[in-house]
Amino acid sequence: MEKWPIGVFTSVDAGLGVKLEVAHELNVPTIQLHAPAQSTRTQENANQFLKRIDDLGITLTAVFGGFEGESYADIPTVLETVGLVPPETRAARAREMKEISDFARLLGCDVVALHLGFIPHDTGAPLYREVLDVTQDLLDHCKQNNQDLHLETGQESAEGLLQFISDVERDNLFVNFDPANMILYGTGEPIEALQKIGNLVHSVHCKDGTWSDQPGETWGSEVPLGDGAVGMENYLRTLDAIGYTGPLTIEREIAEDPERQKADIGQAVTLLRELKKKIG
Ligand code: MG
Repeated sequence: MEKWPIGVFTSVDAGLGVKLEVAHELNVPTIQLHAPAQSTRTQENANQFLKRIDDLGITLTAVFGGFEGESYADIPTVLETVGLVPPETRAARAREMKEISDFARLLGCDVVALHLGFIPHDTGAPLYREVLDVTQDLLDHCKQNNQDLHLETGQESAEGLLQFISDVERDNLFVNFDPANMILYGTGEPIEALQKIGNLVHSVHCKDGTWSDQPGETWGSEVPLGDGAVGMENYLRTLDAIGYTGPLTIEREIAEDPERQKADIGQAVTLLRELKKKIG
């Protein structure tokens, strides 16, 4: 694959991504896919999907897990509802994430990814141990499917994430780096974080955002690529410096306004193509 193929985050029937047609219309060669709803994760649908992307000349680079009941309404709600951290839903979601890994295997995809949730900062807390256990179990399942698991960034500082990955002690755990999430959640300067996480970054989102006036307590705002505080040229130069050559997957999470979402992604594609020419 060429260096830095452009990508876009897509959805079939669940999640906030764009339809496959948008990737095709914008001539984008790679996609990440939000896992389809449980009832549609069948062999038949996998075959149909593979045929469609093959016809369009599109490569699938990662399948993202997401769960019913997750809400990104505000930061405290994320804490209570997202990922494998909340105890009440953990066992069922861990099972479902394994099913998503199996579905990704049907799609021939060797990367699955997710928002794990807010990992406890106290590494001595029982909850920290529980999150380690469920992650190890999931990683061992992914390993049987010859897959890596990528953790989406945002809810942890770079140090917190590195500590956790080290404590998990598995060789198929990596990072999907989302610079805007670092800003939106107020967890740290994205460029510094990217330098620290370095070669554990195996996939990235190209997304932009502005800081909240109360970082870590209220959301910043997600904005079109290039309009926020990430600094896209610096972002790509830093990806280059850490040796990242994988897809640049654009994410624009305004599914409620598909026309604007598509227009913004179109602009992001143009911006990334210009920067690739300059830097790549
Ligand atoms: Mg993201």
